[in-house]
Amino acid sequence: MANKRRPPARSAQIPRVTPAALKRLLRRAAAAARRAHCPYSHYHVGAALLGPGQRMYAGCNVENASYGLTLCAERNAVVQAVAAGIKTFSAVAIVADGPAIPFPCGACRQVLVEFCGPDTIVIIAVRNRLDQFQTLTLGKLLPHAFTL
Ligand SMILES: [Zn+2]
Repeated sequence: MANKRRPPARSAQIPRVTPAALKRLLRRAAAAARRAHCPYSHYHVGAALLGPGQRMYAGCNVENASYGLTLCAERNAVVQAVAAGIKTFSAVAIVADGPAIPFPCGACRQVLVEFCGPDTIVIIAVRNRLDQFQTLTLGKLLPHAFTL
């Protein structure tokens, strides 16, 4: 286990995330959720990633008539950031309609692990109750992630 090759701990390269930055990130995720393309589920989801220099990269869910082609908001946000040349994040915000806190699906957790360390902050809230967010780490969400 000690010899297993792992990517560098990316979260260590980024300054600590402030509560104000997390709230801005939540609002950015909520704004992205409004733009969701979800004619089948009507379930609006938005995600936002906090990159270097406090820059934010957001995505929404994009559904497709061929359901399996649907893209989750979290993976959309990752794709937006990577396309902008950013692969290092210190926090992730996820917002969706209620009633329950919208924890990310397994696929998104694994994709986030590709670009985030286990200490990366994940903040999650229901869209109309952003002040009642839940905060945890990516390591808590996916404790035994697949790595090469
Ligand atoms: Zn997902």
